Amino acid sequence: MNVVRVKEHHPLYSELSVIVGSKYTTDSDFAVWAYSRDSSPVPGKVPGIIVRPGSTEEVSEIIKLANITHTPVIPRGGGASIFGFPAGIPGRSIVIDTTRLDKLIEINEENMTVTAEAGIGVCELGTKLTEKGYYANLVWAPYYADTLGGLIGGVMGGGWSTRTQVVGPNANHILGMKVVTPTGGIIQTGGGPGTNVHRKTTFMRDGGGPDTTGLFIGDGGTFGIKTEITLSIYPLETVAKPRGFLFKSFDDIWSAISKLMAIEPFPYTNLVGLAPNATALFMSDPCWVLLCYTRGYEEEEVTTKIKVVDEVCKAAGGELGSEAIHMQASAAGTGEMYREMGKLASIGMWVFLETHVPKEDLPRLFNKYAELIDQRFEEKGIKEYGGIRMDVMLPVGHGECYLSTNVYWQVNVPEARKKVMEIADEFVNVTINDGLFATTAQRIPAGVTGANWSPSYYEFMRTLKRAMDPNNIINPGHWGL
Ligand SMILES: Cc1cc2nc3c(=O)[nH]c(=O)nc-3n(C[C@H](O)[C@H](O)[C@H](O)COP(=O)(O)OP(=O)(O)OC[C@H]3O[C@@H](n4cnc5c(N)ncnc54)[C@H](O)[C@@H]3O)c2cc1C
Repeated sequence: MNVVRVKEHHPLYSELSVIVGSKYTTDSDFAVWAYSRDSSPVPGKVPGIIVRPGSTEEVSEIIKLANITHTPVIPRGGGASIFGFPAGIPGRSIVIDTTRLDKLIEINEENMTVTAEAGIGVCELGTKLTEKGYYANLVWAPYYADTLGGLIGGVMGGGWSTRTQVVGPNANHILGMKVVTPTGGIIQTGGGPGTNVHRKTTFMRDGGGPDTTGLFIGDGGTFGIKTEITLSIYPLETVAKPRGFLFKSFDDIWSAISKLMAIEPFPYTNLVGLAPNATALFMSDPCWVLLCYTRGYEEEEVTTKIKVVDEVCKAAGGELGSEAIHMQASAAGTGEMYREMGKLASIGMWVFLETHVPKEDLPRLFNKYAELIDQRFEEKGIKEYGGIRMDVMLPVGHGECYLSTNVYWQVNVPEARKKVMEIADEFVNVTINDGLFATTAQRIPAGVTGANWSPSYYEFMRTLKRAMDPNNIINPGHWGL
């Protein structure tokens, strides 16, 4: 007689069901496999059980139980991270899916703040703010997948929005958070209610002591689970104009970008430089293309700024693009281009070779990396696997540029994945050795950045982690801690 073996429940199934309700607790194979990786080609691990708490207090109860039983906990938002997630112990870890914590708590139009639960989708939050005539610095992409808490904990250290190029990274616009600590305590950062019993607002990150909000920005969830977040909001601009210019060479486009970056105030809100290997996706005669999108509050303000862009680009040898090119600038400036990344994904799997370069080193390093990737593409025959790449330059502020080579390949060829990932790993090491920042810093298992910390900094971080998380419960192994 055939005996059908029924899988035993996770050891904490009953206790967790009591905390969040059995409706929001599952250890079924279907579910745990669905939570076994993020959106990147870097593999994750299969967790043991998934819970979907509905309040900060429930998160705290789960963490306390995990501490008593020494069970790893992996917080999860939209699962759109790009570093190989989740970690933890296969078959044992508790994944806390935060997406039931999705309430917009308050839009305060007097103080110009928004407070929302951490599991809210950035798309939903952005839409609700737009309806009221405001924006917050959320994310360029993936707009439909990221949660607010995941974005703030994630690879870009607080996130990068469509306005980051002129207003700086999102971290500057986060005022405070409610966090469940690794031992189950509940704290409010940012000097607001819950920090100092008399304070009502979260305007000053460092006004009443150290900036503890910063500890939970870009931490990958290592130091606690964010459950509520307060951000600055701004009036939505009412006028926007796109501009696209064509250039014959890297030197010409860089001359335009570098001059535009030096102007104060910036005559653009977004500026995206694309290499011919990227413009080949939408041009029959690919060349270097500069996409500019300028937002503002008055027609005259935006027209004046666009005039400045025109003058600089023409002086650098640029030729004004067609209406179709201006539309690309509009798609890049609103984020639509990146929201449509699904279309690119039909080419296959992708990995971003990303870094940030000081302006003065950009021409040298852009060409160095382009040559390196050309060589590796050739040696490893990546094109035979349907491999294509797009080189992109995004200025950030006055002194820094984000560089990305987006590589796509046929997903169903394991050999192709292996070879592209070899290039990705080499790229990360080369950029770190060049003294640069790798956005895949949190790459599992050790954390690329963690592996490159100086001994004294590593010791400091380890001491912090041990003090805050004595049982090493939350995202164990992240950063190599
Ligand atoms: C195609 C693509 C384009 C991208 N472009 C951009 C971009 O333009 N700008 C940008 O900023 N980012 C970009 N990213 C990166 C993305 O925004 C981050 O990876 C973000 O962290 C994903 O959010 P999530 O909600 O899906 O988080 P998850 O992937 O679920 O989690 C990310 C990390 O945060 C932790 N975490 C999740 N929720 C919480 C919480 N509530 N409390 C504590 N820790 C938590 C997790 O444990 C994990 O370590 C891009 C990613 C993709 C796939």
